[in-house]
Amino acid sequence: MSELPVIPASLLPADGRFGAGPSRVRPEQVSALVDAGHNLLGTSHRQAPVRNLVGEIREGLSEFFGLPEGYEIILGLGGASTFWDSAAFSLVRRRAQHLSFGEFGSKFAQVTDRAPHLEPSDILRADPGSRPAGPAPRADIDVYAWPQNETSTGVIMDVTRPQGTDPDALTIIDATSAAGGMHVDISESDVYYFSPQKNFGSDGGVWFAAVSPAALDRISELSRSDRWIPDVLSLATAVENSRKNQTYNTPALAGLVMLGEQVRWLNANGGMAWAAGHTAATSSLVYDWAERTPTATPFVADPQHRSPVVCTVDFDDSVDTARLLSVLRANGVVDVDPYRKLGRNQLRIATFASVPQSDVQALLACIDWALANALS
Ligand SMILES: *Cc1c(COP(=O)(O)O)cnc(C)c1O
Repeated sequence: MSELPVIPASLLPADGRFGAGPSRVRPEQVSALVDAGHNLLGTSHRQAPVRNLVGEIREGLSEFFGLPEGYEIILGLGGASTFWDSAAFSLVRRRAQHLSFGEFGSKFAQVTDRAPHLEPSDILRADPGSRPAGPAPRADIDVYAWPQNETSTGVIMDVTRPQGTDPDALTIIDATSAAGGMHVDISESDVYYFSPQKNFGSDGGVWFAAVSPAALDRISELSRSDRWIPDVLSLATAVENSRKNQTYNTPALAGLVMLGEQVRWLNANGGMAWAAGHTAATSSLVYDWAERTPTATPFVADPQHRSPVVCTVDFDDSVDTARLLSVLRANGVVDVDPYRKLGRNQLRIATFASVPQSDVQALLACIDWALANALS
């Protein structure tokens, strides 16, 4: 096999990780982990040191999101995908409506659609790269669900409660790749949930959620109903444990340490307003570059629908993106592959909160160099 071309060192980013999850971990997060290696790691999650860390994360997230009165931060193990099953047991009373415009929204829709104790879901679909107009209120719907950022396509959706619904209906938002990098008014949702391996640059395997008083009522109502709910998926159990800064079963402590450090860093930098401004600026570099590069186009046609945290760029047939990805990877610039099931001639570049503008500029310079020197 021939050697892949070497990109001039002066063009390379300081950090070549641009994946949409897992995403780059900042050195300060690793230092926090090394520090925790002297005392916290390897100790009981039922004792004060770990519980204080969980408490600090819950408070830090409350500050970051400007949590409205009565809302709580809860957590549990398994990540966002597990949360979908929890939601099917502990949040949907009878029937959910989903906006499905990519892989993640569609997966959650399938979960509630197939749950034997629920009615088939009402699924409003749109092709990848676009999005449905919005939720469509109906009398028989008790949960409205959609992702704020569809990570598989780079399309965003507003977080605004549907108007004219049953006042008892819940709005639940998959914020896995949006939380920590996009603006949100939490009062427009009842459950705003995410995993920490995207903007929070930590490890996966755990979920966090900001839940409203109405959602807490629903969780309690369903836990008292005759519905069978597995303990590991029960949100009532998660609420009970979260209030004690614990989890039902044993969490991965390293991820909590790295998350704690990231939440501190985000709040110290200026919180949500800073993070949203930062990702808007870094993503603009990518979209502006795609608009002026003759062989490239932003995948998401409507600029208003383009994600500030996951930028998808299509290339015309003259560009062999598989080779481009290999050249970049051989030079330490990794994980800008398109979402695997989308099957497009595309790059997907995460501009999460931890990604500095200088690295995005360097990445674009590396791509330009590869397009000019390494693809023929
Ligand atoms: C990554 C992602 C998920 C899946 O998260 P896991 O922690 O792997 O379960 C779900 N939804 C969205 C929008 C995502 O970006």
